[in-house]
Amino acid sequence: MSATNDIWVFVEHEKGEPKKVSLELATKARELADALGGSAAAVAFGPGAAATAKKIGLYGAGTLFVSEDEKFSSYSVTPQAQVLADLIAEKKPRVVLFPATPVAKDVAAQASAKVGAGVLTNAIAVDVKDGAVISTAPAFGGSIEVTSTVNGDVPQFVLVRPNALLPQQVGSDAQVVSIGTAIKDDSLLAKVVDTIVEAGSDAPLEEAAVIVAGGRGVGGPENFKLLEALAKELGGVVGASRAAVDAGWISYPHQVGQTGKTVKPTLYIACGISGAIQHKVGMQTSKVIVAINKNADSPIFEFADLGIVGDIFDIVPKLTEEVKKRKQA
Ligand SMILES: Cc1cc2nc3c(=O)[nH]c(=O)nc-3n(C[C@H](O)[C@H](O)[C@H](O)COP(=O)(O)OP(=O)(O)OC[C@H]3O[C@@H](n4cnc5c(N)ncnc54)[C@H](O)[C@@H]3O)c2cc1C
Repeated sequence: MSATNDIWVFVEHEKGEPKKVSLELATKARELADALGGSAAAVAFGPGAAATAKKIGLYGAGTLFVSEDEKFSSYSVTPQAQVLADLIAEKKPRVVLFPATPVAKDVAAQASAKVGAGVLTNAIAVDVKDGAVISTAPAFGGSIEVTSTVNGDVPQFVLVRPNALLPQQVGSDAQVVSIGTAIKDDSLLAKVVDTIVEAGSDAPLEEAAVIVAGGRGVGGPENFKLLEALAKELGGVVGASRAAVDAGWISYPHQVGQTGKTVKPTLYIACGISGAIQHKVGMQTSKVIVAINKNADSPIFEFADLGIVGDIFDIVPKLTEEVKKRKQA
């Protein structure tokens, strides 16, 4: 497959509203395409796909390939992979950026097998160096970074962690190109027989502006109520360290860190969290980090913007009250 220098983005959206990570990737696609002399485009599936054109374009992709078929509205990984693979075979983009989210990972895996793409996962940066597109991913608990590229005349798929890149308004409306349905075989459609909503799976950590996170210092599941109260007053959500998740105090979708989510809120309040490297890699790009910890020697104070040495059971309720008071004033 003789490639172009075009860079594509696989768009994830909620009924026409692109997820933040899609905007992050659109900006990166534009940057890479500009560096290589290609163009930036995106692909979106399902009802509302065309409505993403305004934002996806504003954040960098000049063209948006869409199929709005209803068949793409449920968990339709195999048909999406099929249609995407056909489109890649026809248009020959050099790189396709995918968000490292459950659905996109599945689509990327299947589509890569169909087009023979090289796949790089868990990227936190993507850059052009000496004409090659280089993906950077953390390894060994975030203590080192590994850079990789794909050699040969095959498409390069890069799966990028949400919140690793900066979305920027660098374009205008994307031109929408309809690619029709092209699902040739309905038997490929997964039949959704039941949907079970896992407790906490609605925690929109990746999109949150404020996160109040708790660790082992929270001491038990019932005490997370203190953090929830503070998060509520601040209009935020609750996150957690792996120690708290492993203890069964709060569910996995709340976990921040290397094996949890990467977050980038404006404000991250870490309560009873020591600041281990595996936690740090998931939250270090927060704009302002506040740490509350009773041990003044905790590593978290080395990278917090504001540190409070004290007991969370004393400080968090006072903080909540103070926020409440100021909001009423
Ligand atoms: C491969 C691998 C992947 C990992 N992935 C992740 C990950 O994704 N996310 C993650 O978080 N961890 C991850 N870990 C685990 C990580 O190494 C740490 O063990 C974990 O982050 C520790 O959680 P913690 O800070 O809550 O607990 P601890 O390290 O036990 O810290 C608890 C803190 O609470 C303080 N404290 C106790 N009581 C109070 C109180 N009343 N008031 C104030 N402070 C108090 C203590 O001083 C201490 O600093 C991973 C580890 C490995 C090996």
